[in-house]
Amino acid sequence: MDLKDVRDKLNTISKIVDEHLDFLLEVRQDEEVYKDDINDIGKMARDVLSILSKHSDLLHVSSGNEKEWVCEKCGKSTFETNYEHLVHPTLHLGCALKEEEEVEEIKYDR
Ligand SMILES: [Zn+2]
Repeated sequence: MDLKDVRDKLNTISKIVDEHLDFLLEVRQDEEVYKDDINDIGKMARDVLSILSKHSDLLHVSSGNEKEWVCEKCGKSTFETNYEHLVHPTLHLGCALKEEEEVEEIKYDR
């Protein structure tokens, strides 16, 4: 499967999800109208949920390439580092603070 194929499929999913969201709002607003179809709607919802949850790990893949997640100061990976310990994806908080300390020390040396 190439990128264009995947993109087309994702676009199609996006359209279908939009339609289903509209439908969902309709069902919520007018549950009486859809009560005869409730089994079909329930089955559809169950199938969609099971497929989506099977692939939910994909949602947690960070955007961008793992190779780009390297600290510009120490050259170590920032990929596994918690966001709280990063200034941005290519700078550890620790490395940023260390650099600040070094700058301070240079000032004191004068
Ligand atoms: Zn670092």
